[in-house]
Amino acid sequence: MTAFRGADLHCHSTFSDGVEPPAQLVARGVEAGLSVLALSDHDAVHGLPEFEAAAKGTGLVTVTATELSTRCDGDDVHVLGLFLDPEEPELRARLAVFREDRDARGEAMIGKLAALGMPLDLAEVRAVVGEGAFGRPHIARAMVAKGYVKSFDEAFEAFLTRGKPAYVPKPKWTLEEAIAAIRKAGGLSVIAHPIWYRDPEKVVALGIAAGLDGLEVIHVDQDGQKENAFGLLAEREGLLKSAGSDYHGPPEGRKRVGACRLDEDHWNRMVVAASKRRAESGRPPLDLSPR
Ligand code: AMP
Ligand code: FE
Ligand code: FE
Ligand code: ZN
Repeated sequence: MTAFRGADLHCHSTFSDGVEPPAQLVARGVEAGLSVLALSDHDAVHGLPEFEAAAKGTGLVTVTATELSTRCDGDDVHVLGLFLDPEEPELRARLAVFREDRDARGEAMIGKLAALGMPLDLAEVRAVVGEGAFGRPHIARAMVAKGYVKSFDEAFEAFLTRGKPAYVPKPKWTLEEAIAAIRKAGGLSVIAHPIWYRDPEKVVALGIAAGLDGLEVIHVDQDGQKENAFGLLAEREGLLKSAGSDYHGPPEGRKRVGACRLDEDHWNRMVVAASKRRAESGRPPLDLSPR
């Protein structure tokens, strides 16, 4: 039995808007000395088989996950579904619809940029998206490559965020629908990076009313002071605490695999809750043995 070295329960691959394939994330998780790693692509679960296959023989514990885009209290709230069964039919069907909608939206944003004098090659961008969930990061990276903006962040700030000229909204779950879908798939729902919301306490309260399980207390965008505040909020409300690096690649950024880690005690609490949820959901039991 080797010592527990932490759980990173939030990262992205090429199956959404990350720049590295699942196998590379596994390699980074091993390199970082993690005990547990989750793949949580935005609105997507189809990278999970590759993730699982790549983890075989590494000794890592893998967690099947996704990060659902929801609308709540006028904010874009991300909800992690941890430990869910990616084969659950209703979840899969809904994600397939979102995928088609994302593709149409990507095309619409590229149309707006062309009208602004910044043409991008749709086929080229689609080739990069591949099996992934077409998102604004793909467009931001293509804009940088073309020299239309100096940086990824500038692409967002000047063109791609709400209210900017190339923004196109994306269909979203409601917070309540997302939490219910995660539960039905046998997973635990966790509100991601609460620092991103105007009124995190309100978002958490609405989440709890809908059956929320946890809060991402430890996240790279949250400093120590915020971490303490969100930790207290989680304790007060009886929510599980989660931790995630939100890695998207490339590796030189702040967000490295293993940059945020859940300790053994909090991991064990999650495992108890997740095993119970799986049993209640009627989905196949969880396998959290080292791969
Ligand atoms: P989408 O799902 O296509 O709306 O894109 C959302 C993703 O874009 C988020 O998960 C982040 O990875 C990235 N993102 C959103 N807002 C910004 C921003 N202001 N600066 C940089 N990246 C952002
Ligand atoms: Fe993202
Ligand atoms: Fe997120
Ligand atoms: Zn994320």
